[in-house]
Amino acid sequence: MFYKDYSHWIREQFPFRVQKISVDAAFSCPNRDGRLSLGGCTFCDNKTFNPSYCDRGKSITQQLEEGKAFFAKKYPEMKYLAYFQAYSNTYAPLEELKRKYEEALAVDNVVGLVIGTRPDCVSDEALDYLQQLNQRTFLIVEYGIESANDNTLRRINRGHTFDCSRQAIIKAHQRGIITCGHIILGLPGEDEEEMLHQASTISQLPLDILKLHQLQIIKGTPLAKEYEAHPFHVFSAEEYVNLVIRYVSQLRNDLVLERFVSQSPPNMVIAPKWGLKNHEFTDLLNKRIRELGYDHR
Ligand code: SF4
Repeated sequence: MFYKDYSHWIREQFPFRVQKISVDAAFSCPNRDGRLSLGGCTFCDNKTFNPSYCDRGKSITQQLEEGKAFFAKKYPEMKYLAYFQAYSNTYAPLEELKRKYEEALAVDNVVGLVIGTRPDCVSDEALDYLQQLNQRTFLIVEYGIESANDNTLRRINRGHTFDCSRQAIIKAHQRGIITCGHIILGLPGEDEEEMLHQASTISQLPLDILKLHQLQIIKGTPLAKEYEAHPFHVFSAEEYVNLVIRYVSQLRNDLVLERFVSQSPPNMVIAPKWGLKNHEFTDLLNKRIRELGYDHR
């Protein structure tokens, strides 16, 4: 196998099928609420995070029940992971975190949590609690790294450094927590050489899972304004397939790869407009890997 695929890996973790259900647990983000900045990361529009059943006006339980009802029609035996996805899901006092995570775990057939957050938003106290939680349920902590280059992180107004990501990942890993990292390929100021250089840096982190996304320029974001004023190169689907293959070939091969692309609603995207569904992209990628004879590394 050229890469270790998440869907196979997750099937090995449970004796039944599991599906993630996104919940919007009404957290905020220090890069939006003024603690770090009000503007957020330049690429960010949180409206692109959530499927339609996510609504912070509804309780966590209700969101999960609605998500379950959606999937249970097709797969009645399915069990679920509550995916705390929108904003920074450890950015609150510990008691609030406990209440929200416990509410999700109390829902029937929810067998674990996936908690997405910023690397500068997880206190040692919260990590100690997550370590305990990890003893009694399935848990993944997912960190937005986005880039390993501090100049890029400044340019996209990320509000933390790469070393902050490194330290957060090490601390979670030392506590035995499965950690996932999220990277964006194609950020302004990064050429292919720079991205490939970063791949080996990312590969040295004690991560279990990696998610790659192509940069998407979303209407109304600061990045959209930057792109309009000073257009920069955005990958075609073919260029991105080739980049991903070169990027993945720099990674250690026990790293589980969960995704390669993201799909924001087409009416919100300025560029790139590939018109491909996620699975169609993965098919293209796998076809190219076979053509190159890389399917057995
Ligand atoms: S991408 Fe995440 S960290 Fe950045 S502004 Fe949006 S919610 Fe906050």
